[in-house]
Amino acid sequence: MPLTPDPFRLLLPPLIDWIERTLADHAMGARPVASLGFRRLRQYFSEEQLAVAKVAAVEHVPVPPLTALGAPGFEEFETMQAAGITYLDTFFVGQRYAADESLHFHELIHIVQWRLLGHERFLAAYAAGLQSYGYRNSPLENMAYDAQGRFDRDPVPFDAEEFVAEGIVRL
Ligand SMILES: [Zn+2]
Repeated sequence: MPLTPDPFRLLLPPLIDWIERTLADHAMGARPVASLGFRRLRQYFSEEQLAVAKVAAVEHVPVPPLTALGAPGFEEFETMQAAGITYLDTFFVGQRYAADESLHFHELIHIVQWRLLGHERFLAAYAAGLQSYGYRNSPLENMAYDAQGRFDRDPVPFDAEEFVAEGIVRL
């Protein structure tokens, strides 16, 4: 059953509550990405973005209990044991990925998407993308994987924030 705007409106407040509680629970363990010493990220993202983006390395990345929150149909997403996940200005990575610059790059793309779209539009677009295309081919993930692929293959830096700004126009 596709999420029509009304059920999504009902889901949004408890989902945002869950996100805020999750970020508060991990606030002590979150560090600015700028403090991590990755060498390439600063060639793709502004100093300001890397200073406000935070990361917490955790044993299991927290995934919203969407079924319990009243949004069935996201079981694939809920159970997929992601390597990383992003909420607002913070992302989580599994501890074994703490030194994985490529994964940090991917999650930073989501940070820029959240910032440019705002949380309501981000969540609505992400949910609609999951429902229509599944996780990997949802437009916001596709954008992140495209950029990450370029980061992995091509040593020539590009402006990742501009990349997201241009991609969002085509959503
Ligand atoms: Zn992603």
